[in-house]
Amino acid sequence: MKRYILPAALALLAACQTAPAPAPTAPEAPVAAEAPSPTASQQWLYGSAEARIAMVQEWNAIAAYVEAKAAARPNASVVLAPRATADAPEFLPCGDKPLAAVFDADETLIWNLGVTAERQRKGEAFDPAVWADWERTGAGKAVAIPGALDGLARIRAAGVEVIVNTNRGHDTAEGNAATLSAAGIGNFVHGSNLFLRGDDDQGSGKDGRRATISETYCVVALVGDQLGDIADLFNAKTLTPPARKALTASPAFDQMWGNGWFILANPVYGPSIAGSMDDVFPADTYWEPSAPD
Ligand SMILES: [Mg+2]
Repeated sequence: MKRYILPAALALLAACQTAPAPAPTAPEAPVAAEAPSPTASQQWLYGSAEARIAMVQEWNAIAAYVEAKAAARPNASVVLAPRATADAPEFLPCGDKPLAAVFDADETLIWNLGVTAERQRKGEAFDPAVWADWERTGAGKAVAIPGALDGLARIRAAGVEVIVNTNRGHDTAEGNAATLSAAGIGNFVHGSNLFLRGDDDQGSGKDGRRATISETYCVVALVGDQLGDIADLFNAKTLTPPARKALTASPAFDQMWGNGWFILANPVYGPSIAGSMDDVFPADTYWEPSAPD
């Protein structure tokens, strides 16, 4: 059975490396293996009532937004045109194309409970090979996000096509469709209403796939848990966390949040989990407790 090395045990080991050798004593009792526990962010996202409520609220807002767009057709899509920027925003035209809403899959439509718990139980980090296996065989062990099934039913009832644009792999298309189906999200056909990493030469960038989808559909909503689900420009490597945050607040983009662009909370993984103390806590909020009298 695998043993878990706890942070306290690691600190002890580190201390032992620098401390003077202790006087000989009786052999230390082995540290008992303790059951793993979820991280704080896993507890919040996958386990809390508050996260369930946040998701239901967001899915209700997404469904209401899409219903309103279906009732009053827009002229423009919410997909940025090629080379659009915050200073020169431009959206693709809709023409008379049928309407679609485009969703990321992981932590947007489904929560990846099976593989997340497997990694946590074993104290192991993300492993691309394990993740690929999860894509192939995880059907039934990922669950629909609270609110998603009701939201998707409303969107479909409004006559809007549900499209999935995910960075799950092209090579595991069958398993990915099975996972979405087993979670009740729907029946998806690769290349028709399911678009995967590897469908083009843009790697995990999704702009190319959004352009492909836009050849057939007028996209009225983009929904994800990470900014790459909206536009690749948010993932420029040069952007620090504060700069990335500021880009989302530029006037052309700021008016899109909840208005065609939707981000669901995911505190567990992804590019949002970044930033130094200075990035996260502005200098002008620095504080110390009052000195005792
Ligand atoms: Mg995702």
